[in-house]
Amino acid sequence: MKKIEHIGIAVKDLEKSNELFASLFGKPHYKIEEVESEGVKTSFFEVGENKIELLEGTNDNSPISKFIAKKGEGIHHIAFAVENILDEVKRLKEEGFVVLNETPKKGADNKLVVFLHPKSTNGVLIELCQEME
Ligand code: ZN
Repeated sequence: MKKIEHIGIAVKDLEKSNELFASLFGKPHYKIEEVESEGVKTSFFEVGENKIELLEGTNDNSPISKFIAKKGEGIHHIAFAVENILDEVKRLKEEGFVVLNETPKKGADNKLVVFLHPKSTNGVLIELCQEME
């Protein structure tokens, strides 16, 4: 893995949270993107070299809505940039990690993404992401 690509935070109201985090960081988000297949609306902030992704569920079946219903708002996942997502999935499976989707799917921010089940990573949902060309 190369570096932390972003940290994802689950929020109930993206509009309100955009204002809140803009006050916190001293600058607004630089993009909003809906990933319909995942039932989420996201916004991205740049903080120095790092990115923060806010996620709001767009329906009750969205993983984000379910997460908030269970745990409340807060840190949802940590995303790591990888060079080759398929190689990394293979390696991590061999190491015994539970991969949620073995076939990478299209995530926000022009990325291919794979998630690891939190039960195999001490309760932390891990996202692997590879920049799409
Ligand atoms: Zn993410």
